[in-house]
Amino acid sequence: MPGIDFSSLRGEITMEQVLGLLGFECVHRRGDQWYGYCPLHQSQAKHRNAFSVNVRKACYYCHKCRSRGDQFTLWADATKMPLHPAVVELCNRLGVEIPWVHRW
Ligand SMILES: [Zn+2]
Repeated sequence: MPGIDFSSLRGEITMEQVLGLLGFECVHRRGDQWYGYCPLHQSQAKHRNAFSVNVRKACYYCHKCRSRGDQFTLWADATKMPLHPAVVELCNRLGVEIPWVHRW
């Protein structure tokens, strides 16, 4: 399978879109920094702010399960798929054309 041009895809699919698909509920918001239940592990109510995500920089970090990454690794982790097929599925779901990398 050809590679995916992630840098161009980053301009197409935002962290907010991925959070929306995952049904992320923002508990607390400070500018671009959002906090809430972690979509990657079973959060208990007392850990409702464990997951923090910067929607402008498109990076997240969970203080409980220590997951971190960008919108694509978040989607892959949440759907328990390897990154490549997860991103293909994500593009299909959002109706975004996949920017394949053709080397030759
Ligand atoms: Zn977590």
